[in-house]
Amino acid sequence: MTTVLRHLLWRIKPDPARQVTIRYVQCRDCGEKFPTAAAQAEGDLWAMKHAGRTGHRSYREFAASDLIATPVRDPRRPSPAPPAAECPAAGPSPAAPSTSP
Ligand SMILES: [Zn+2]
Repeated sequence: MTTVLRHLLWRIKPDPARQVTIRYVQCRDCGEKFPTAAAQAEGDLWAMKHAGRTGHRSYREFAASDLIATPVRDPRRPSPAPPAAECPAAGPSPAAPSTSP
């Protein structure tokens, strides 16, 4: 039995099933967090209220988006739409290995 491994190009892009960016703001002085929706203004308002209430002045904003990596169908042919980013990953193909007698 022989296993054939192929190298594929991969692309990574925002997950179309989950395009909502998750944000939150965290006070760097006490660690309190405020989850926000997609609007940055909500986190800014929370930080200003927190600063007024506690005197804490240092904050950090976090934003996260879900991404999905998919193999490019045929790395020798150009893709119909330019991918967001490509990485010539040196991993085995997710396709089933072929065998020969
Ligand atoms: Zn605080």
